[in-house]
Parts: sequence; C-alpha cells; structure tokens
Amino acid sequence: MFNFNIKKEFLVYLQKLKKENDLKIVDTHVHPFDVMGAAHYYDYREEYSGELYLKENLENKKIDYRKPGLSEMLKFNKTATILSKNAFKFFPKTVNHEIKKLYSKTSEKRALEEMEKSLVDEAVFLPVEPWINTEWSGKYYSNKKFLLLGSFDVHRIDKNKIEERVKYYIEKYKIVGIKLHPNLQGFKPLPKDNPQEIAERLKVIYKMAEKYSLYLLFHGGTSFYTNFPDKKYQNFKRANNNALLENFCDENGKSEIFDLNIPVVIAHLGHFGLNKINYKLAKKIIENNNNIYFDTAGVSPKLIKNFIELIGSKKIILGSDAFYNKMIFAIYFVFEAAKKAKTNEKVNDIMINILGRNYYSRILRRR
Ligand SMILES: [Zn+2]
Repeated sequence: MFNFNIKKEFLVYLQKLKKENDLKIVDTHVHPFDVMGAAHYYDYREEYSGELYLKENLENKKIDYRKPGLSEMLKFNKTATILSKNAFKFFPKTVNHEIKKLYSKTSEKRALEEMEKSLVDEAVFLPVEPWINTEWSGKYYSNKKFLLLGSFDVHRIDKNKIEERVKYYIEKYKIVGIKLHPNLQGFKPLPKDNPQEIAERLKVIYKMAEKYSLYLLFHGGTSFYTNFPDKKYQNFKRANNNALLENFCDENGKSEIFDLNIPVVIAHLGHFGLNKINYKLAKKIIENNNNIYFDTAGVSPKLIKNFIELIGSKKIILGSDAFYNKMIFAIYFVFEAAKKAKTNEKVNDIMINILGRNYYSRILRRR
C-alpha cells in the first residue's frame, strides 16, 4: 500500500499542459447523489449549498481534495477490489454509514471546489433512476460548468412517455446523453435478453438517444451495493453482473447497441470490481465499431495502462466516480498509466486525449 498526497509538481505540470495545449479537462463520471441506495436524495440538504457549507468548512472540517481515500491508497488494485467486496459483505453497516456521511455533505459548492482544486473545467453528472433522480440532479447541480445525463427507470417508465421525457430533459436541463446502469437498474443491456416489456422500453430509449443526438453511457462490470437501502426506496430489483462486458455484444464485439449511430461509452473500462479482464473482447469491440469508448472511473493505473496499450488513448475518457473517489487521483492515475504504457503515443498526447479532447471532439454531440 502506498500513501501520499498529490505533489505540487504534478499540478504545475498539469497547469502547463492545459495552457500550452488549450486543454479543457472534463470529468465525465460524477454522481451528484448516492447510487447505492444508502442515502436518499430527498435527504439532500439544500443549506449545504450555502451558509452551512461555508460554516462547517471554516470549522476545520475542510475536505482535503488532494488526499487519497482508502481505495485510492490501494490504487484500486486487486486488494482494493477484494477489500471493498468484503467490506460490503462483512461490514455492510459501516459502509452504509460512510456513504450516508459522504452524501450528506455534497453540494454544488463542494463539486465546484473539488473541480477547482483538481484543475477540472467541466464535470458530467450522472443520475441513476430510481436511486438518483434526473430532476433533482439537474435542479441542484445547475452550474454552467456541469453537464447532465438523463436516466430512466426501465421497470416503471411508460414506453409511450419516454420521448416526451427526453424532450423535457433536453429543454429544461440540456442533457447531453443517457446513463444506464444494468446492475443497479436491473436489466440486461441487449433488449432481447429481457422480458418483453423491458425490451420494448430499452429499444425506445436507444432510439431516442439516436434521434436526439445523445450519447449512451453504460456501467460496465460488476456492482456492490448496500443491503440496507434507505426506507424511502421500496423494493427495487438490482443485480450484480448484468453489466459484464460479455452481456453487451457477441464474441466478435457486434451488437445492436454498438450499431447505433451515436457514441457509446462503457464505464470503468468495462470491468468495475473485476480482477479477471476480458482483453480479447474489449479489443474486438474497438476493432469492429468506431463509436465505442471506455471511461477510467474507479480503475487502477495498471488497467488504464493495459488499455492504452490495447486500444490506444483515443478510445478512453476520464472519469473519477466522484464523490466516492477524488477527481485529482483519477487524473493522476491516467498520468501514471501514460508514463508506463509501452506505446508509440507520447505521454502528453495520451493525457490530452483522455482528459478532454476525445470527449469534446468525438462524444459530445450537443449542449
Ligand atoms: Zn459510477
């Protein structure tokens, strides 16, 4: 295990890289509220956006945005994966409590502060219905530096109301994409792998994304979550492994989702919480489709390095999974990976591609 704070020299390097290359850093994977069900968004304390936040911050409760959390100290490595899996299994109440604590103090102000300290220019906020409501995300995180994705609860939404809803979110919150979480939302990515009702809704969601130039962002990999969801959530069905990469396509990387005429991002390099990586399939997916990308949220520098070597930096975008994780570490891990990757690409080019260029030039279709 290592333990360090981000060094000044790294921030100086980053600052210079940004300036000389006109680079805007975008963190494409941030959760405004808790996705795991421990903390309910109704408990969001509006006062944290203002006075109370400032007051508590002054009372030496200041968050150190450059200090790693436990999983970052372990660099999301195998130990961390095993640890967090076991934490959910053996200390579920502690995990629950930590998440509640974390999400009782999130706010627009906190987000902006962390972005500033981490040299992040824009952040994309991801709701996951019913765990995080799109409306609340748009309402409480409305700063101009934030982009928003929309989300649909495929178990409850009326198929005929999806388009209306998409139009409403675009008009009111200028959503730029749709976030889908097969594990927490309890469905399989491919419509045909679901009961008919769910399949039909998914088809409409995918079609609407295409029609309105919205990109799709899927969770990729396994999921851990609390078994003590807040009582305000009733029994929502969740799964652990619906979002495995193998469930998105056939063994050649072909899929009706990837055939859509819009960018599709698979989060966590497609392998959240997994130690066994399907490099073969990831490569096939990139080779056989030109609109697929992977984000770096919550994965180790080593996996990022392997993916840079496997598919190149043009197919990878920055994600932090904040506020569970810290933004600056997500950036630092890309840097570590870029330095170690055996590739013809230069470190600075890799950084520029992953931290901003790919997202703005290839994924973002509207704003
Ligand atoms: Zn996430």
